[in-house]
Amino acid sequence: HPLTGLQTPEIADRYQRIFKRPLALKIEGLHKSFEHKGVSHKVLNNIDFTAYKREFICVVGPSGCGKSTLARLVAGLETQEQGHILVDEKPVTEPGPDRGMVFQSYSLFPWMTVKQNVMFGMTQNGMSKNAAESEAFQWIDLVGLTKFVDAYPHQLSGGMKQRVAIIRALATQPKILLMDEPFAALDPQNRLKMQQYLLEIWQNIDITIFFITHDLDEAIFLADRILVLEANPGRVHEVINVPLARPRPKDVQDSEAFKATKTYIEALV
Ligand code: ADP
Ligand code: MG
Repeated sequence: HPLTGLQTPEIADRYQRIFKRPLALKIEGLHKSFEHKGVSHKVLNNIDFTAYKREFICVVGPSGCGKSTLARLVAGLETQEQGHILVDEKPVTEPGPDRGMVFQSYSLFPWMTVKQNVMFGMTQNGMSKNAAESEAFQWIDLVGLTKFVDAYPHQLSGGMKQRVAIIRALATQPKILLMDEPFAALDPQNRLKMQQYLLEIWQNIDITIFFITHDLDEAIFLADRILVLEANPGRVHEVINVPLARPRPKDVQDSEAFKATKTYIEALV
């Protein structure tokens, strides 16, 4: 593979270890069609993909290739037509607490404070109010929003709202976090900050991330592996091992390995 030469022995060794971990997500022979004006339109065609525990997966591909549909299927928000989806070896049949979701639109409850938003899922899952509150404080502190525990979403910037959306999703301790273009609405500076926040969180907790983006720089910066889809119908084009060390070196975007990876994927999509 043209990118193999960019892998140092350390990076190659890291992937060897990743591939020995237990499976976090297994997608097998997945098909999905939508009916439109009585005509069936194939959106996903025979998707096979496996993610290992604690992997950071990014999904890229042209607009309309079925990225959101794929995430919604894993979330259990769409009915499966054919194939299998396993999360932590259990078949997905409906939404469940083992999968958290973060969307581009923050979808926080506007009538709830930051603290109440973060506590909501925890108390829904049966945690006591006191325990949920004390955990919510820790999550809020982790993303530097302690001053805003009692603020309402409309009082927060876009980046702050997205930080709340992320910890709200993580607070229920999902096995996998599904993120559909979560930072697309942020300006470049805030987007970079959020990417760094997310990597920091991911490095500190036991979570697999399935992150959709149309920003190749973002995908290469974040991902262990990038799932490249192609359109009409959506299918797996290639899965790429990103030849960059963890944690990401400073100014990694300027490295030869980063640029070569980007050039390679640009030629695919
Ligand atoms: P992406 O996120 O990659 O841009 P989507 O998964 O949103 O792609 O959409 C893939 C295709 O499926 C598009 O052609 C879209 O119009 C179609 N589609 C998505 N959701 C629905 C739906 N609920 N009903 C009908 N068509 C849909
Ligand atoms: Mg989409």
